[in-house]
Amino acid sequence: MKSYKIACIPGDGIGKEVVPAGQQVLQALAAAQKDFSFDFTSFGWGGDWFRKHGVMMPDDGLDALRGMDAILFGSAGDPHIPDHITLWGLRLKICQGFDQYANVRPTRILPGIDAPLKRCTAQDLDWVIVRENSEGEYAGVGGRVHQGHPIEVATDMSILTRAGVERIMRFAFRLAQSRPRKLLTVVTKSNAQRHGMVMWDEIALQISKEFPDVRWDKELVDACTARMVNRPASLDTLVATNLHADVLSDLAAALAGSLGIAPTGNIDPERRYPSMFEPIHGSAFDIMGQGLANPVGTFWSCVMLLEHLGENAAAQRLMQVIEQITADTSLHTRDLGGSATMAQVTQAVCERLSGAR
Ligand code: ATP
Ligand code: MG
Repeated sequence: MKSYKIACIPGDGIGKEVVPAGQQVLQALAAAQKDFSFDFTSFGWGGDWFRKHGVMMPDDGLDALRGMDAILFGSAGDPHIPDHITLWGLRLKICQGFDQYANVRPTRILPGIDAPLKRCTAQDLDWVIVRENSEGEYAGVGGRVHQGHPIEVATDMSILTRAGVERIMRFAFRLAQSRPRKLLTVVTKSNAQRHGMVMWDEIALQISKEFPDVRWDKELVDACTARMVNRPASLDTLVATNLHADVLSDLAAALAGSLGIAPTGNIDPERRYPSMFEPIHGSAFDIMGQGLANPVGTFWSCVMLLEHLGENAAAQRLMQVIEQITADTSLHTRDLGGSATMAQVTQAVCERLSGAR
């Protein structure tokens, strides 16, 4: 029987609650499917690790993860540690260390969810945002000089490389091609950013020639936010730079009903390294330790993890159960206007998976 080695990194805040819930669900699924199992290893990296060791994860941390089949991540963020340390010291270190250059973010309105766009049905909103995850605005290049003086200068450079843009465009076109509508929107800002984004547009046109069956268009990122609200059905797959996609995907998650539901995968499409799956929400310290966290974003991330492992039947089964759960409003957590606890939702998912209900 196939056994998958899964690294679990709960991280901070509600990450410590939702990741164990995800493990419980994966375990229940494996027990029900009977043709594979999971071998979990947990890593206590994050804010607590930083307080003890001065770093968010050990220097040889990537080596410990290298042999894994996949990583299930919670969140990195701590109110007492600056955000750039928590982010760069853990999540981005893994994403960049393992060249997980494609960040994939599906968004759908699940059954039973009261989404904010009243004219919008579940058929109208079915998107996947592909975020360039290795360079762009978050390349980490820049600096500050003359700190504190009136002449102080601070720069954050957006780095786009031909190789980096070609590979994410090709990934996005291929993903669009695999979806029923074969429709891709390339998000840009080449009217105002005259170098990198112009190359981005040129490469989109170049790669589009490899995919004659994919319909595609270009949209400015600002106009794209309005289009997501006004004409959601005109979008299917989107590809955008690191910063643009970061913003668009929070909007997408909110339009689908809650930040607590949305999943994401940080993927190395070439499979040289393990890919990492996580809910898109952060550490949410305001609700930590109260059992209020919505675990659905983590469960949906587990679906993506299973798809990445090639366990498609199991992935479909878990997604089906997630949709049964969201359709039952008595199992909605507080962020969805309900009063169910994370433990109740998790138990309901496990019971359905094991056929007990
Ligand atoms: P970070 O700094 O790590 O990004 P954050 O405190 O900004 O964390 P987010 O996760 O970005 O928190 O979420 C913003 C708010 O949305 C939270 O304060 C929380 O109230 C709510 N929220 C986020 N995720 C969930 C969830 N899974 N279940 C319920 N509510 C959530
Ligand atoms: Mg946040």
